Amino acid sequence: MSKRTKTSKAWMHEHVNDPFVKAAKRDGYRSRAAYKLLEIDKRDRIFKPGMLVVDLGAAPGSWSQVAKQRIGAKGRMVAIDLLPMDPIHEVDFIQADFTGDAGLEALVAKCGNTQVDVVISDMAPNISGVILADQARAMELAELALDFAMQYLKPTGSFLVKLFHGEGFDAFVRSANRCFQKVVIRKPDASRDRSNEVYLLAKGKKN
Ligand code: SAM
Repeated sequence: MSKRTKTSKAWMHEHVNDPFVKAAKRDGYRSRAAYKLLEIDKRDRIFKPGMLVVDLGAAPGSWSQVAKQRIGAKGRMVAIDLLPMDPIHEVDFIQADFTGDAGLEALVAKCGNTQVDVVISDMAPNISGVILADQARAMELAELALDFAMQYLKPTGSFLVKLFHGEGFDAFVRSANRCFQKVVIRKPDASRDRSNEVYLLAKGKKN
């Protein structure tokens, strides 16, 4: 058996036995990532009914599903991704590159003149395998998400962003501390131990 076949068999075995994959099927979420956001929200209480939430890197859509449930019928959800996403009831979706002018303009237009309550970003670049390049690209996405949050969040707003430990991580945490009153790092149970991904949650934008 080729090494590749063995690896994909091992992946499939892990995937079908993963409790979060099973739970996502049971609960109607599009991916196991839903449980990362559910755990963070349970602990840190990010969402409230009626909020305006922006989801960066939203596809396939489980974070948008969770956030929409939390903000309820009066809340508004705007989501963007490079990839297509099957519609979610009352979630405004834009298929575009968040880092490009057109994507950003479309996102801002969808938010109208309203300041945003919460920006969530689970964006991750396509992995090339070149560790330094992948890390640089991931940090660039996080930095652009932070810029967006600083520009469009309400003063009381919250910002949740996926980060990877590595070059640029500490500097990013320092920037977030300069921009927000409270910054914490979370590693939810659904985030695999072998992944160096964590989530930074920042609350209370400083002006
Ligand atoms: N939170 C999502 C969920 O719960 O379904 C999963 C997000 S997935 C881990 C990361 C997403 O970031 C991918 O769908 C990818 O296409 C998107 N992404 C990466 N770079 C992007 C960019 N420049 N603009 C928009 N989306 C981007």
